[in-house]
Amino acid sequence: MKSEMDNFKFRNKKTAERIVKKINEADVEMSFMHVCGTHQDTLVRFGLEQMLNEAGITIRQGPGCPVCVTTPREIEEVLVLAREGITITAYGDMINVPGEKSSLSKARREGAKVKVVYSVDDAVKIAKKIAEPVVFMSVGFETTTPSIASMIKKGAPQNFFILPCHRLVPPALKAIMEMGEIKLDGLIEPGHVSTIIGMEPYIPLSKKYGIPQVIAGFEPLDLLMGIYMLIRQVKEGRADVENEYTRVVRREGNPKALQVMYEVFEPVDIQWRGFPTIPGSGLKIREKYIDHDAREEFKDILEPLKEKDFGERKGCLCGEVLRALKEPEDCPLFGKRCTPKNPMGPCMVSREGGCNIRYRFSPHPVGESA
Ligand code: SF4
Repeated sequence: MKSEMDNFKFRNKKTAERIVKKINEADVEMSFMHVCGTHQDTLVRFGLEQMLNEAGITIRQGPGCPVCVTTPREIEEVLVLAREGITITAYGDMINVPGEKSSLSKARREGAKVKVVYSVDDAVKIAKKIAEPVVFMSVGFETTTPSIASMIKKGAPQNFFILPCHRLVPPALKAIMEMGEIKLDGLIEPGHVSTIIGMEPYIPLSKKYGIPQVIAGFEPLDLLMGIYMLIRQVKEGRADVENEYTRVVRREGNPKALQVMYEVFEPVDIQWRGFPTIPGSGLKIREKYIDHDAREEFKDILEPLKEKDFGERKGCLCGEVLRALKEPEDCPLFGKRCTPKNPMGPCMVSREGGCNIRYRFSPHPVGESA
């Protein structure tokens, strides 16, 4: 059965104006958070952010960029392996994330074997071609992790290892609610993650914290409609989990993808950049597949890192940006010492990062083009 949303042309200006009018008529002042780089891109690219601000709605970006939430320690881990001469494969954004003193791209210029890949399959192809260890720096939320799990399950080459840097969204949302650092009237949940996990994992949050939630797609009208649905919930005194993205997200998600993900990985407590350790928010490889775990295979190399503390580059506020306590423009380095061409933190590296998005769609304080 078609829902009302199926009839929308998702960028129709007239429809957008009608929804914004309804939001204006609601006459409210509310603050919502999303945890998705693509949502942020849509909000800024289409000028919705300003439109909503004028209507009394503030939207904050939480920790919704998988590259950005990767911790300084994980960056140092992969750099140590690269310096040992091990072939590293990683997504393009990842190689530019600065560690304390270096990055994978800098290590590559200095002779390390670092290869950019577009998928885990590319990384496996490289491992099949060379008779030496290949490590894949595996970042991502629930959206991408099942494909990694599936590849390991069906049998990766013996010289192929992953460095798991995965994160799970619902435990992070719980941590944000527990920490209570910012006042939120509702959560806009990410459409692509929800395609995998469905609606159920969000329900305890609404029950325990009384927070309305709406799963939203990525087009301008998706977001506007999602925000309108949140406002409606607040005004009606409800705290439910609603699904605006019905053309893609099913209530049960994708049980097969979840099954393979949890067959290969198990939840583990893990830090997120800017956050303390969040219980059950990471994934580690189960014992059955431990032969493909880079942390196990290279534990002698990685062991010395355990004793050390790693932090942000001096002056970088990525931690606060990811906790939605600061806006990118609050960072004194934004657009000056930190630009997409010379990023000081992951939020400026990744095209899903708040600083990168704000920089690309803002007039630039310095002469560099985005
Ligand atoms: S502008 Fe650069 S240095 Fe500042 S928070 Fe963003 S990424 Fe970090």
